[in-house]
Amino acid sequence: MKVLVAEKCGFCPGVRNAIKLAERTLAAQPEVYCLGPIIHNEDVVNRLSEAGLKTLKTIEDIHSGTVLIRSHGATSEELDKIKQKGLDIVDATCVLVKRVQQIARKLNEEGYRVVIVGDKNHPEVRAVVGSAPDVRVVAGPEDLDNFRSNEKLGIICQTTQSPDYFAETVSAILKKGFSEVRIINTLCRETMSRQEAAVKLCRQVDVMFVLGGLHSANTKKLAELCKKHNPQTFHLQNWEELDKKVLSGKGTAGVTAGASTPDWVIEDFVRHLQAFAPRAT
Ligand code: SF4
Repeated sequence: MKVLVAEKCGFCPGVRNAIKLAERTLAAQPEVYCLGPIIHNEDVVNRLSEAGLKTLKTIEDIHSGTVLIRSHGATSEELDKIKQKGLDIVDATCVLVKRVQQIARKLNEEGYRVVIVGDKNHPEVRAVVGSAPDVRVVAGPEDLDNFRSNEKLGIICQTTQSPDYFAETVSAILKKGFSEVRIINTLCRETMSRQEAAVKLCRQVDVMFVLGGLHSANTKKLAELCKKHNPQTFHLQNWEELDKKVLSGKGTAGVTAGASTPDWVIEDFVRHLQAFAPRAT
């Protein structure tokens, strides 16, 4: 079987930097903790755990050592608590996520009701909400029902959403008739270029594979977009998860991967696919 890999896929600079900082910190410090998984990829989290990184849910469980802030960032309250406890901080928050937090604070200072378009349960969104006073999360226009129409809205977006989703949500918000709306595009270009490359590729192949963590927002978005253009799209974490039956009768396969999927997972998947497919077709 022919296997094509998306022109742009896999690790983004934000994730690369977080992993490099984690490795460097683990080499220098005896006790290193991370609040929640450093990135949404089990293979990477397991590797770093073997190297000594301890992933915990709350600061209350950490009593000494160094706390690594993951690429999705942390709330101001979390950062204050870490400092109050006298723990060292290594900040691996992606610069683009930091930019969203800074914009949220600035809009708030300028008197805007800050609205972030995205998933309220995603750690990046929770960190933005916890970085500025009174930030509201909006997944769709129905979430604006309790807003007053004379409010000034400052709209930003979760970095890993798609431009189409952001545009559709903003367009629906505009129809609600708010007196002033300021929109700042906080989408991540790395995510956008991966989405464009994935959509282009999935249209050319019989079956499309999107590799990445099941909780990774940017990977889920890639899979959702590809599925719209090619229903034979499958989101999985690695080769072991593939139900080989889906290869039956397929001539060309496409492969892409989320921003938190390491090269070795992509290479391993492609190698197995190339070797396995001739027997399955
Ligand atoms: S996907 Fe974009 S925003 Fe998220 S960590 Fe990577 S570079 Fe940063």
